[in-house]
Amino acid sequence: MFDDLSSKLQSTFKSLSGQSKITDLNIAEAVREIRRALLDADVNYEVAREFTKKVKDQALEQDVLTSVSPGQLFTKIVYDELTQVLGGQKEEIRFASTPPSVILIAGLQGSGKTTFTGKLAKYLKSKGRNPVLAAADVYRPAAIEQLKTLAEQIKVPVYSIEEKNAVRTAKEALQFARSNAHDVLIIDTAGRLHVDEKMMAEVSEIKKAVQPNEILFVVDSMTGQDAVNTAREFDKTIDFDGVVLTKLDGDTRGGAALSIRNVVEKPIKFISMGEKMDSLTPFYPDRMAQRILG
Ligand code: GDP
Repeated sequence: MFDDLSSKLQSTFKSLSGQSKITDLNIAEAVREIRRALLDADVNYEVAREFTKKVKDQALEQDVLTSVSPGQLFTKIVYDELTQVLGGQKEEIRFASTPPSVILIAGLQGSGKTTFTGKLAKYLKSKGRNPVLAAADVYRPAAIEQLKTLAEQIKVPVYSIEEKNAVRTAKEALQFARSNAHDVLIIDTAGRLHVDEKMMAEVSEIKKAVQPNEILFVVDSMTGQDAVNTAREFDKTIDFDGVVLTKLDGDTRGGAALSIRNVVEKPIKFISMGEKMDSLTPFYPDRMAQRILG
């Protein structure tokens, strides 16, 4: 992931390290290259503009320092800014003070919701919790089957009903969690191929019915700026708490990851890098920044 962006940033730093000191001219040149690299990686235009402005201001502020080389200085400034644009701090899921905690998973069809639901359950289990899943993606029998298959692998129960009623499934699953001492309920919801009113209305109704402690919006990072636009739409309707970026193991250019936090003002909480149940990683902005710099 981010291969192209990484190599472009590295080549900018390399050409700077051949120079003995920071000047207005090499700052301008480096900043131009960084902006181009970000836009080529499909970063939102405003985010790229703001990013390069901050990098430039910081470089200009520090150009009196002679002890560091221009290459080192820029690497540090860009690393700090990447960390900021990715959210700064790691952000945790919010749990209820009195269990069960309810986590609602929303997103488009194919974004990776069901896979993530399984991964999250496994992750939480490894942290000593006792989760149960609700199959509220009621329209596609294959989706319920997929969730059950994943749940079997990770040995977590799934609550589902015969009736195709997502709100009732969620409500009853919450009762089930309460009566069976499950401290976390994770609700997998239905997505569509595109944002549509019926889907949004259903997710909103589920939200109203079960009052989640945490709503996670799942999005395929391979879809670039579409991911950011979809996030904006979902956020308007369900005011989610965090983003899960999936398929970062694929050939993603990085635009979604670098734009979403600033456009939607919600933190990325997890990244998913594979179809297997054990590849869920909490999101650490500083580690991702390090990775991008290579
Ligand atoms: P849903 O429709 O939102 O529930 O999406 P699914 O969980 O069914 O995922 C859609 C497809 O993407 C499936 O083939 C998954 O195996 C795959 N998938 C999900 N997450 C990841 C990931 O992080 N990396 C990769 N490579 N594939 C993923």
